[in-house]
Amino acid sequence: MIDFHCHLDLYPDPAAVAAKAHERAVTVLSVTTTPSAFQGTSALADGRPTIRTAIGLHPELAAHRSHELPMFDSLLPTTDYVGEVGLDGSARFAETRDAQLDVFNHILRACADAGGRILSIHSRGAAQPTIEALKRSPGAGTPVLHWFTGTPRQLESAVDLGCWFSVGTPMFQTSKGRGLVSRMPLDRILTETDGPFTQTNQAVAHPWHVRRALALLAELWETSTTATEARISENFRKLNRT
Ligand code: MN
Repeated sequence: MIDFHCHLDLYPDPAAVAAKAHERAVTVLSVTTTPSAFQGTSALADGRPTIRTAIGLHPELAAHRSHELPMFDSLLPTTDYVGEVGLDGSARFAETRDAQLDVFNHILRACADAGGRILSIHSRGAAQPTIEALKRSPGAGTPVLHWFTGTPRQLESAVDLGCWFSVGTPMFQTSKGRGLVSRMPLDRILTETDGPFTQTNQAVAHPWHVRRALALLAELWETSTTATEARISENFRKLNRT
């Protein structure tokens, strides 16, 4: 199973979650929210090749942590993955929109200069500006839009741009979300939990709970969980060859 967006470092006992995820053979993209969290979080992947660590600067923190961009640049050569990065258009972060965009543009440029990366991207309430920023930075690498909540038309633009998508259980809770997932190309979808910020059956989601997203995806695709899991694993292998 693949959990392509999980904040391992934000669980109360990150080492225990990392060990259990590895034990259960769950491949995890361990995203970070600040460059200063990257090295400590990378240590969770030591001896656990199923865990990949991404360097990120979350849009909610971007304005106050922009001084960490030089650290982002210096650590970028050490990983193939970038996230969580992107833009947040919520009213709560309205005052930081310009700063968020500056940080995101810097990150996309750095990724392009480094030859491209695989990026896990947040775009809540900001699908349009996120897509436009990606359009201006074609060399940044392969964008994977996490928990995408834009319109069907924005989804179409993202697909045309070559974006991938990672989907978790909350996307299946609304008909809008299910509609979006059903329009995503089958060969560009990955599963995610976004733990510990989401729940599975009223409990904090852990990487192995990604099975629930697989089951929901299987239901939507009218196929078995086994076939869906095989498809997602194949997608993940293909993504790493991009
Ligand atoms: Mn997240």
